[in-house]
Amino acid sequence: MIKVENLRKTYQMGEIEVRALDGVSLSIEKGEYVAIIGASGSGKSTLMHILGLLDVPDSGTFEIAGTDVTKYDENELASFRNRVMGFVFQQFNLLKRTSALENVGLPLIYARNGKKADLADKMLDLVGLGDRKSHHTNELSGGQQQRVAIARALVNSPSLIFADEPTGNLDSKSAKEIMEVMSELHASGLTIILVTHDANVANHAQRIIEIRDGKILSDAPNPTAPAVPDVENREEEQAGRKGFSLRAIREGLVLVKQSIRSLTANKVRTALSALGIMIGVAAVIATVAVGNGAKAAVEDQMSRLGSNLLMLMPQRRSRGGVRQASGSSSRLSAADVKAIREEVEHVVRISPTVDGNAQLKVGNLNWSCRVQGVDPDYETMRSYEPQVGRFITDEDLNSRARVAVIGVTPARELFGGENPVGKQMKINRQTFTVVGVLPEKGSSGFRDYDDTAFVPTTTAMRRLFGKQYLDRVEIQIDEAENMDRAQTSIMALMGQRHRTGSAENPFDIRNLAEIQDAVSSTSRVMSVLLSSIASIALVVGGIGIMNIMLVSVTERTREIGLRKALGARGVDVLMQFLIEALIISFFGGCLGIALGAGAGYLVERFAGMQVMFTRESIYMAFGFSAIIGIVFGIWPARKAALLNPIDALRYE
Ligand code: ADP
Ligand code: MG
Repeated sequence: MIKVENLRKTYQMGEIEVRALDGVSLSIEKGEYVAIIGASGSGKSTLMHILGLLDVPDSGTFEIAGTDVTKYDENELASFRNRVMGFVFQQFNLLKRTSALENVGLPLIYARNGKKADLADKMLDLVGLGDRKSHHTNELSGGQQQRVAIARALVNSPSLIFADEPTGNLDSKSAKEIMEVMSELHASGLTIILVTHDANVANHAQRIIEIRDGKILSDAPNPTAPAVPDVENREEEQAGRKGFSLRAIREGLVLVKQSIRSLTANKVRTALSALGIMIGVAAVIATVAVGNGAKAAVEDQMSRLGSNLLMLMPQRRSRGGVRQASGSSSRLSAADVKAIREEVEHVVRISPTVDGNAQLKVGNLNWSCRVQGVDPDYETMRSYEPQVGRFITDEDLNSRARVAVIGVTPARELFGGENPVGKQMKINRQTFTVVGVLPEKGSSGFRDYDDTAFVPTTTAMRRLFGKQYLDRVEIQIDEAENMDRAQTSIMALMGQRHRTGSAENPFDIRNLAEIQDAVSSTSRVMSVLLSSIASIALVVGGIGIMNIMLVSVTERTREIGLRKALGARGVDVLMQFLIEALIISFFGGCLGIALGAGAGYLVERFAGMQVMFTRESIYMAFGFSAIIGIVFGIWPARKAALLNPIDALRYE
């Protein structure tokens, strides 16, 4: 069954070359029970590892059942170890904090042939541990642990059992029991290769190979071998094949379960590594929500400004560094307003504006704010329908009445809770009557739209500010598609009315929708900036995961070695660590979403900013944490996957 010739293996220990195997040739038939005996350091374990396909020789030939296994690649070797071989080690090499049953079932995971998990159950019965199945390995005695290891070696119905000093860590009674189990296994038809330094143990075998310094000293049948006990041959377990997808799901669940176990084994560490992701995701969620809220607020405000508005104002641009003397040609007058109203098509409303700051006074209360002179049209154009009282009327305008419509801020500051309508108020020492209170418009950034008072344009010009000309004219056009045409007509008209001699028109006209676009794009830039800062937090969180995973790989080197010995392929180990990284980042992501939502809520509550959570931002946060888990988990996982099984098993 096994045939090796001239095996050599040399270890380099600094300057010294250790010849662990120095030309070993032997062949072992199916059903044999062979003991390899020798002093410590003679090369027994090295030989067993090579025979067990855990390690490769430097030179020599190696055939199993006629096939040359030196040509097998890593995955084929893993599958061979899983299906054909079972290992029993001196240190048992069981997974801690894991039940006996799950330890035994481990090779089934990697067999991926749909063998039922109840096989593990049967195997534990077979080694006499039927009543200890759910016990964790640390609750078992040494002898019981070794029985679990034997059950694990048997679970995939191997044809070869390798045992390296299986009784080395056991008391003599347990050792005797284990050797009895071995003899029974042999009797049931298994091939057993046992490595020991103990002649008494070796005596259970039917053939004894003695090695010294990497060479075979003697190889002979054991005359004192006990008779083969009469045990019926084990029936071959036939794998019950299930549907592929069902099996894949089950295997996936087992992997996830294992990952969760190893993560919960180290709760503090897992929580700490999830912390970074949590903060990053929270930052993304919160900043995106605040950004969206700000954008929505700006859009909302803009829509409240009124639609299809044009703003005409004198050009204030400087020419050649010298500010142009404001000649009569560039001054807006009431006559211009009249001309636009009468001559330009599509104009539905028009209101001039003059503004300045003024001191408002009621009794001994003072309030200084913006005071705007406007026409009656302004009410509808800008949706300023007063919440109480009335707006400015044509009559007020014609009589230059001393009436004012005030915003909620001066109303609050000067009149407290009282209704100001009908009350007297001084504006720059002249007595005005309050005729209405403006609707609340809110604030954007530093500007409070409610901190204002409106008076008739004529009153503002003649009585308050002594201005002869208008500061701006706001014009409302009937339909959005007529904006451009109206804009051109107005400019043409203004050019005609204020002939300057130069080709350049002394007026500027702006579409408020364009201003609106500029504002929204500013808020967009802000949210991009904020989210990029948040993403940096996410990346830092990812590096945290990577760090912890790397430590974990180093710490669990032995476990990785064991899994590989039991038939895990590189990709299985890779998946295992990747799933762990994903679970950490998923966990952190969930907490982060909660934290981010909480932070957003606080911002809304205490900073008075509008916050808007969108489903997209939550998907995005999940997506991000998954990507972070994969990207930062892949390196540690690869590192684990590339470990050599025997190096990993020997790792202390
Ligand atoms: P045994 O199992 O018979 O006690 P081993 O096969 O473990 O002996 O080791 C044979 C020799 O090879 C010993 O001298 C040991 O020190 C050496 N050796 C084994 N593994 C390594 C290794 N990974 N690196 C260097 N030397 C090793
Ligand atoms: Mg050894």
